[in-house]
Amino acid sequence: MKIYGPVPSWRLGNSLGVDLVDAPKGYSKACPFNCLYCHLGHKGAQVSEPVPMNLPSKDFDILEKKINEIKPDYITFSGQGEPTLNLNLGPAAQRIKEMCDIPIAVLTNACFASRKDIRANLDNCDVVIAKIDAPTQQLFEKINNPAKGIKLADIIDGIKLINTKVCIQTLIFSYANVTNADDETIDALLEVYRDINKSKPIEVLLGTATRPSDDNGILHPIDSKKLSEIAGRISRESGIKIRYFSENEQKKVNRNIVQDQLRTEITDLLLRRPCTRDEIISRFNGSDAAIVLDKLVDKGVVGLKVLDKKNYYVVL
Ligand code: SF4
Repeated sequence: MKIYGPVPSWRLGNSLGVDLVDAPKGYSKACPFNCLYCHLGHKGAQVSEPVPMNLPSKDFDILEKKINEIKPDYITFSGQGEPTLNLNLGPAAQRIKEMCDIPIAVLTNACFASRKDIRANLDNCDVVIAKIDAPTQQLFEKINNPAKGIKLADIIDGIKLINTKVCIQTLIFSYANVTNADDETIDALLEVYRDINKSKPIEVLLGTATRPSDDNGILHPIDSKKLSEIAGRISRESGIKIRYFSENEQKKVNRNIVQDQLRTEITDLLLRRPCTRDEIISRFNGSDAAIVLDKLVDKGVVGLKVLDKKNYYVVL
């Protein structure tokens, strides 16, 4: 289990990341999907069998210390691995609840949501942020590249049975000639939201590709005007509560930590999430984050990727 961040999140504020699933050595992630826009890149291990993974007690001690130090808005299961691959997700959430009353979120692709044991794990969290980027199996396969046999219909049916709060997260973007931003797809997505909302009231979180991948410039976010138009339409036509991505000023997190620890923390964060310079420095306000970041760049540990004319630091 790896604790990283706090991560700047437009959905969750200052979120402290907990990664329950290690990426196998030499791979950038462990996930049953390989989404076109994935900011972890496309050199992933397509793992599609959940198993119980060990969660050492000492990691919970580290987590408790960091919670007390940072006082995050959320503790979030996310990272280099799809969190539901670890069948100990539920016990991990229970253990965190014993140490604090900070809400727990889980970012998931919901590909195992049709399984009762997986839903029981998710129900230990306060909010499940489940990914649906496409309204049809055909577009789902193009955008999310799921492992063989994963059906969008099963994901939708599974989400309806989750008891805890559910937000559906959709990223609207284009990648070469694939997009989900066209009117026809938005109409069909609206139907999917309505269908789920009838059984399980949801909130929709509409984002775009805001972090770079390894796509050689063919990944494009949609502009904020179009995103707000789509969000307005979904809200008007479905009555479902919706929030959409907008650039927020970085909330600072005051942390006075030594350079050695900073180096580890910045690297752990960037391994899981490309960040802008401002985002990194605001996470470690009061420490030597800028100096450490520049040293990591000089040593070739960290480098820059560009998306939409914006520079992001990533681990090389
Ligand atoms: S589900 Fe998340 S981690 Fe997995 S490929 Fe898609 S974006 Fe990447």
